Amino acid sequence: MAAVGCVLAESVTSPEAVPAFANSAMDGYALRAADTAGAPVELPVVGEVAAGHPAPVALGPGEAMRIFTGAPIPEGADSIVLVERTQRRADGARVLIEVAVPPGRHVRPAGDDLQVGDSVFGPGEVITAAHLGVLAGIGVGEVLAHPRPRVGVLSTGDELVGGGGALGPGQIRDSNRVMLLALVAQTGCMAVDLGLIPDDESAITAAILEGAASCDAVITTGGVSMGDIDLVKVVLERIGDMQWMQIAIRPAKPFAFGQVGDRSTPVLGLPGNPVSSLVSFELLARPALRRLAGRGDLHRPRVTATAGETFTRTPDGKTHFVRVVATRDEHGALQVVSAGGQGSHHLTAMARAQGLAVIPDGEGIPAGGEVRVLLLVEV
Ligand code: AMP
Ligand code: MG
Repeated sequence: MAAVGCVLAESVTSPEAVPAFANSAMDGYALRAADTAGAPVELPVVGEVAAGHPAPVALGPGEAMRIFTGAPIPEGADSIVLVERTQRRADGARVLIEVAVPPGRHVRPAGDDLQVGDSVFGPGEVITAAHLGVLAGIGVGEVLAHPRPRVGVLSTGDELVGGGGALGPGQIRDSNRVMLLALVAQTGCMAVDLGLIPDDESAITAAILEGAASCDAVITTGGVSMGDIDLVKVVLERIGDMQWMQIAIRPAKPFAFGQVGDRSTPVLGLPGNPVSSLVSFELLARPALRRLAGRGDLHRPRVTATAGETFTRTPDGKTHFVRVVATRDEHGALQVVSAGGQGSHHLTAMARAQGLAVIPDGEGIPAGGEVRVLLLVEV
């Protein structure tokens, strides 16, 4: 169970055949197909066999045995007639078989799903619930998988307040930390809350160092813009091998990356504006965390949709990611319209959106035009 969502790091071959023995796929009568050639035909019933029990006797020519789903096929039988196609005589000793059946009807042969030594799964596959079912079915209780990365999240800002309670002058609530912790968990990682840190260089240093020592990656929010108090940048420059970037996108332009501590733990510095922080996570952090988790498929699906309204913009050298509501018409074609306010503080519109419409630098996209959309959820 612990491995669900992790990426397999080994090949699994089957130590067992599945099914282990030939068994019945239906309730009915086990018999020899040849004996049904002249159907309708009446045969003596020599016993019954249920799932989990061996057949009481072998089946001779011209005989039938009552059989239930999953029960082993009795020796001598080669086919099953559905119970609905039979009439048991009042004394129970005989049964009328109404139809002729070919050999093998409703019989699940041994090894029909897997043979001993068959290759079952390979490295790189994400372990799903169905994978666990297969592994349980061949008696494999442990597999080698990439560990779920531990990912620490901290938010920075003197203005931030965690939890409820009254807000003081100039204070705002910390939206990003819980959001990023949830995004980390949804990415299949173990989310570690590193707390809410004030705009204080030594406090930020201590928190990042603690995260770098105890986690496989650290995500910070806030403090990576141009301003003097953008201390995550300052700290990463000092204690990490920092790269600070201005990415030609809107929202989520500033981004900092550094590797910190003995294990060169990657630290991803996301911007503080909530929408920027989420878009930055989607575009930069999520693929990185998936790579850390051993996954080869890193990116959200990108699809083509029809613009349900005009997406206006002016040229500014950046690619714009517009939060959109996506709907499908009766033919399954996707249409997108703005999800609402497009400011980087408009988190409500972000929460309502199913995707990010990619509006390339230029004059925008007219209503009815084609637009590429990065889907954040299935629609
Ligand atoms: P910063 O990137 O630190 O300059 O922050 C940019 C904007 O995002 C400011 O308006 C901050 O108050 C706001 N902000 C920063 N961190 C958070 C957070 N964790 N939750 C909500 N808003 C934030
Ligand atoms: Mg700040």
